[in-house]
Amino acid sequence: MKICPSCGKEFHDMDNFCMLCGDKLKQKEDVFHKKIEKLEKKISAMPAAAPAKHSDVQALRNRWTRLNRRWETSHLHSRRP
Ligand SMILES: [Zn+2]
Repeated sequence: MKICPSCGKEFHDMDNFCMLCGDKLKQKEDVFHKKIEKLEKKISAMPAAAPAKHSDVQALRNRWTRLNRRWETSHLHSRRP
């Protein structure tokens, strides 16, 4: 399964370009991995004692959990460290 990094639409492995925006398609797991990595970096870069940013952190964490779960359910056979 391939995915468009711009609009998130899913395509078959045979397809190389997104039919909607013409972007180059990437392997779904690569895209999810990058998204999770980015979110992890964002979360760890946020100062723990910044009450104004607390809701942002919470939103990021929720997003990260959702992404993680989605990624894991699509990769039931792969093991993560
Ligand atoms: Zn697209």
